[in-house]
Amino acid sequence: MMCSRLGPSLPHLLSLRLLCTEAPRMVATRLSNRLPAPLAFKDPSAFRVKSWGELLRALGIFQFCSFPVLVNNCGKLMSIARTVLGRRGFSLLLRPTVYAQFVAGENEREISKSMEKMSMLGLRPMLAVPIEEDLGESTGEKRYDENMESMLECVRMSHTNTWSKDPMMQLKITALLRPELCVKLTTLISQQPYDLNLLVRALDGEQINFPGLDGNEIAHFLCGLQRLNKIGEASVNKVRVLVDAEYTYMNPALSLVTTAMMKKFNKDGAWIWNTYQCYLKESRSLLLEGLLLSKNEGFCLGVKLVRGAYMDKERKLAEKEGRLDPIHQSWEDTNNSYNGSLDVMLEAISQKPERYRIIVATHNEESVRRAAERMEQLGIDKDGGSVCFGQLLGMCDHVSLTMAKEGYAVYKSVPYGSVDDTLPYLVRRAQENRTVLQGIRKERDLLKQELRRRLCPGLRGGS
Ligand SMILES: Cc1cc2nc3c(=O)[nH]c(=O)nc-3n(C[C@H](O)[C@H](O)[C@H](O)COP(=O)(O)OP(=O)(O)OC[C@H]3O[C@@H](n4cnc5c(N)ncnc54)[C@H](O)[C@@H]3O)c2cc1C
Repeated sequence: MMCSRLGPSLPHLLSLRLLCTEAPRMVATRLSNRLPAPLAFKDPSAFRVKSWGELLRALGIFQFCSFPVLVNNCGKLMSIARTVLGRRGFSLLLRPTVYAQFVAGENEREISKSMEKMSMLGLRPMLAVPIEEDLGESTGEKRYDENMESMLECVRMSHTNTWSKDPMMQLKITALLRPELCVKLTTLISQQPYDLNLLVRALDGEQINFPGLDGNEIAHFLCGLQRLNKIGEASVNKVRVLVDAEYTYMNPALSLVTTAMMKKFNKDGAWIWNTYQCYLKESRSLLLEGLLLSKNEGFCLGVKLVRGAYMDKERKLAEKEGRLDPIHQSWEDTNNSYNGSLDVMLEAISQKPERYRIIVATHNEESVRRAAERMEQLGIDKDGGSVCFGQLLGMCDHVSLTMAKEGYAVYKSVPYGSVDDTLPYLVRRAQENRTVLQGIRKERDLLKQELRRRLCPGLRGGS
């Protein structure tokens, strides 16, 4: 976790803590003025704000993630540990380690503590309730209503606290709508697309008879859309809601629902955003479709551009079902796809910054640099609101802090919740640390440099 205890190297942070009623930006500017050297992607001083405990924890976790056997089986290892240690013992093991690295906390008090420190560093928190379901994990209507209450609470926390200018949060549709229904909808709309207006009318509360669904499915779909509508109404003009992309076997349904929400809530600004996973071969055409639809249907488009987090499972599934792999063949191909889509969006933004927005959600330095260069060439304001950057809590702080210091709007995706609720998210983070190639290696090296600096202050690079 970013700076959850204050390091001795920056004692002035303590006084900044008392100033947390000041506008975070002012505090951040003061902090950046006081940091000893300008932060660059290669500068280990980004880690000087970390306590000893945080440094050692981060190093230990990234080291663990460098063993493919452990990472590939970490889901199984976690469930064995949970059975052997019991719920309480398992929580005691995870809380100070993996959980503390990637999750902000369980309640508002714990979250607030992390968020205030983050805004002092010029970073903006983007809260995420990591509740999600996959096939075979469906729960009842009551559980989905409880999840909606958690999301509404997330809107409230993001809006009422002064952690961030222009607050954002993430939302997973499968926390509100059965994954089985999303899969069925995906199949249905691939044969006969639904009229977007049908969904908008259902969001407005009309009892629509969606073709192809039986009575129970329609009832559940309408309940799910009502849940999403409540979140849309609570967040519009207050908090930008970034809808996550998940698996290809349900993404078209998630995208359809998100687009209906965009049509309803994004008339004058992008309050609901969709996510585009550039590891997919079809990602460019999906993005172009999204741009065209937003123009034709008259809504503003918010885009979260990611590479994609479900590569292993997508590939295994495609192989098992004898389908073509939906993922680009190599990391380089995914990079080209990401950078190409980035160019498309920045071009669109430079022409109509009031209609389009993007969060460059990546830890990849080349993509971040490329975005910054293109912004400059196209005359896009660093902190004008239409382009911002995003990284995950606990990952690549050297990228986030450098960009924030340079004056860009940088969000850290901040999941929160109980150990049990965040488990699938934590497993994915561990697995991802294997595929996020250079970023983590570099972070590990910078952490080691900082450790050496503290242990041997006389060495070159010591403070
Ligand atoms: C703010 C934020 C929000 C996010 N939201 C979502 C979301 O809604 N949905 C989602 O799926 N992910 C999401 N992610 C995760 C994201 O998709 C990536 O998994 C993660 O950021 C790593 O990609 P990178 O660009 O940061 O790192 P990089 O190191 O540049 O790239 C690693 C990524 O490249 C791809 N890759 C790696 N090896 C190969 C290969 N052999 N062939 C093809 N492709 C390869 C994979 O996507 C891998 O994750 C989010 C990330 C952030 C920062």
